[in-house]
Order: sequence, then structure tokens, then C-alpha cells
Amino acid sequence: MTEGLIDPFGRRVDYLRLSLTDKCNMRCFYCIPKGFKNFRTPDEWLSFNEIQRIVRIFSEMGVSHFRLTGGEPLVRRGITDLVSQLSSIDGVDDLSLSTNASLLEHHALDLKVAGISRINVSLDSLQEKRFRDITGTELKPVLKGLMAAKSAGFNPVKINMLALKRLNDDEFDRMVEFCIEHDFTLRFIETMPMGSTGKAAGKYYMPLTEVRHWLEQRFELLPAMMPGGGPAHYVQVSGTDLRIGFISPISQHFCETCNRIRLSVDGTLYLCLGQSDRYELRPLLRRGISDDGLVNAISEALALKPQQHDFVSQPGKEVRIMSLTGG
Ligand code: SAM
Repeated sequence: MTEGLIDPFGRRVDYLRLSLTDKCNMRCFYCIPKGFKNFRTPDEWLSFNEIQRIVRIFSEMGVSHFRLTGGEPLVRRGITDLVSQLSSIDGVDDLSLSTNASLLEHHALDLKVAGISRINVSLDSLQEKRFRDITGTELKPVLKGLMAAKSAGFNPVKINMLALKRLNDDEFDRMVEFCIEHDFTLRFIETMPMGSTGKAAGKYYMPLTEVRHWLEQRFELLPAMMPGGGPAHYVQVSGTDLRIGFISPISQHFCETCNRIRLSVDGTLYLCLGQSDRYELRPLLRRGISDDGLVNAISEALALKPQQHDFVSQPGKEVRIMSLTGG
């Protein structure tokens, strides 16, 4: 029995986020820069077989939670087949998906059948024009995708909303109502200075203490727990089933409990969202490395996991945009 993956700071890593693509069909102003062209080319993408192999090795090393993300994972063709393959690997206890939901209407049921257990959807506004201003795309397909996820039986569906001061802070009550109406879980997230876009978005940064204060003035908030809640602190709105999570990487960072690493579409392991420490697995895979060799490589990579990000102490530090790492 393995004790699992333990990093140099004694943290147990049991969660791998897998990026299926660095491309996205949206252009959220805080993420991929307009006109950005420097995407990985198809020959650099890990194949489904390579991804499957890496997931098998990680699960043998004690990692049990896997999340498919991107970019927008639903733009990668054949994702349902990949999900079927991954969900049948021994030790994969939880296979979840982060999506912008714009293509989910056509995939939700198949993904559920194939083995996705939980879905998170990014949604920063329920106003059509504002949604278009933020993402460069239309809101309607996203709402259809969300309803398809609900009909397919995903529960919970979590809505991830970046709290953006003077941009969407007049919509919190509408979002709360929307989530109560549809039985979604709502999570507020702080913007991070990732890439030039993330740094520029700093002018909309809103500490979630302010959001919580705003909510407390309107609702009675009870302490709550949430399975698979990760770093979010949860409350429940009294008299409803709504749970609200707060993810505060800036104002209350949670690095001391970090349990995750990320694999980008080109097979690079990123040990921290906010640091450049990385380890490339693709060259090893393509050189025919053995399973034992891969286990050693992953252990070497884990030894590089830094203690914490420097988003607060060094906000100007160069960090890649979210979509390149796998958000
Ligand atoms: N396309 C999928 C989605 O929309 O959930 C997955 C990838 S997307 C990069 C993951 C999350 O990263 C989204 O919720 C997005 O809002 C968030 N994100 C991107 N750039 C960010 C930044 N600079 N600060 C905080 N969150 C960011």
C-alpha cells in the first residue's frame, strides 16, 4: 500500500488537473490575450493513450481525483471516449470537468454516462451584453449547457464566478437567486495576476471578504461543508439548499493545504499555478520510458513543488496565463 505522493513540505498530493487543450472558444479578458497565437500544435498534444497511461501511473501512486480542464476541454474532439477510458482505470475515484458550458448542451448526457462525476461551470454574468463584454461570446449556449447538465443528473453543478469590482458586483443577488432556482452551488473566486491579462484585471480585484460581508447583510449564512470542496470555504444560505463557496487565493491563500498539481496539454507538469517550476513528461513518454521510469520522474517532479505562490508579495512576477497551465 503506497502512502501516496508527499511533497517536500509534507503535503499529500492526491489531485491532478489535466488540461486537454490550451485553446478556448471564449476570450475572457482576464485570461487569453486578444490575438494570442502561441498555442501548442497538435503534435505537441498528449495523445489519449499517453493521457490514459499517465492517469494510470498517478492512480497507482495514490492520486484519486482527476479533473479535465483547459483551455476549454470540450473543444478537444473525442473527449467522451477519453472520459470512458479514464473512468474505468482502477483507483480513479473522482473524475470531474471544468467547462465554460458553451458546448455542454451536446455533451452533458454522454459525459455523465462515460463517467464524469461532477461539473464546474465558469459564469461571471447573467446579463447578455455584459457576458459578451467579458467573454467575447454569447450567453445563451452557456445557459442551455447548464440546463443540459442539470437534466443529465449532474449534482452538484458548481458555478464559478469571478468577483469583479465595478464590473459584476451588482449581480451577486441575481446569481444567488439563479443558483437557488436551479439547485446549483455558487462559488466566488478572486482574480489572480496571471499573464498580462490577469495583471490588467487587477483593477477589478475584489477581496472575497467584501462579497461575504455583502451577503451577510442580506442573508443568514450558516457554516457548511461540501464534498470535493477543495480550497473553498462554504456557507449555506439559511432557509434554502444553496451553498456558497469562497475561493480566495489572494486575500487568504491556502497554499499550506495545496493537494494538487497540473498537467498541461503538452505533457508538462506544473507544480504550482503561480510559479514556473515544471517538469516535462512528454519527451520521456516519446522516448519509450518504462512505467518504473515514469514513477521516478513523477517523484522527481513532486520534489520541485514550491511552498507557495507569490501573487501577493511579487504581483509583477511573470506567470503564464491560466489557459496554458490548465485552470
Ligand atoms: N474553460 C474552462 C472553464 O471555463 O472553466 C476551464 C479553464 S478556465 C482557464 C478555468 C478558470 O480559470 C475559469 O473559471 C476562469 O474564470 C479562471 N481564470 C482564468 N484566468 C484567471 C485569472 N487571471 N484569475 C482568476 N481566475 C482566472
